Amino acid sequence: MPHRAFSHELVDRLARAQHVAALTGAGISAESGIPTFRDPGGLWEQFKPEELANVQAFLRNPKLVQAWYTHRRNVALEKAPNPGHKALVELEGLVPDFLLITQNVDHLHQRAGSKRMAELHGNITRSYCIDCGKTATEQEMTPIASGGVAQCSACGGYIRPDVVWFGEMLPEGVMEWAGEAAQRAEVFLSIGTSAVVYPAAGLPLLAKEGGAYVAEINIEASAIAGYVDEVVLGKAGEVLPALVQAVREKRA
Ligand code: NAD
Ligand code: ZN
Repeated sequence: MPHRAFSHELVDRLARAQHVAALTGAGISAESGIPTFRDPGGLWEQFKPEELANVQAFLRNPKLVQAWYTHRRNVALEKAPNPGHKALVELEGLVPDFLLITQNVDHLHQRAGSKRMAELHGNITRSYCIDCGKTATEQEMTPIASGGVAQCSACGGYIRPDVVWFGEMLPEGVMEWAGEAAQRAEVFLSIGTSAVVYPAAGLPLLAKEGGAYVAEINIEASAIAGYVDEVVLGKAGEVLPALVQAVREKRA
């Protein structure tokens, strides 16, 4: 049953746990002002993310896709981590074995100070050449701002964001790392994710199979809500600081 507050059981388990993993999605950055893919996206509302976030779209129109990512990068850079991001940094400091697994590409967890992280979908702050793989420099990116196309200075290839697109494989080893953490976790938190994009969406279920107590924190029940131990309905930026404070007090 979804609740508006977290349970004592969740606090107790987090306070005793040696192994904890958390999965975050776009919802944790919503309170920083970064739209999720479901929020209205202004200028870009006419496109579905699925139509731009794939290699075919990029090859068809690199300029358009580069412009979209430049827009998203600029939005992310203008925003700051919120209390939800910060609470996860604190939780990392309280739990001996903690892994933060994120589907987000906005770099806000890193900017908040999270250290042990599995970035499942890459990061929009980085770009590389689609042909030779060279990491792009700021200099190579400059044409985008004036409506041009960014190309590699070494080989002329188009520059793409270092993110995982629909239909692409996850970076090597990262899913295995996340999967192992989920399986060893005594408590698994699924935060601000609609849990529909696989394989990430499988992680809470993997954790559950491995014996973890799984709690979801979301403003509405997600696709996996029926399979988890506890659904806490609320904003990540409000629920997480209160939860982590309760855990800190219990651990002390
Ligand atoms: P999603 O957009 O499918 O789902 C967002 C979820 O967050 C929803 O379930 C929603 O109810 C919940 N939510 C919204 N505001 C919340 C809040 N304040 N507190 C708690 N929950 C809240 O996002 P997803 O599950 O991450 O999957 C979509 C894909 O989109 C991912 O692959 C991700 O890489 C990408 N994406 C990333 C960003 C980002 O980096 N910030 C933004 C948009 C999309
Ligand atoms: Zn190149």
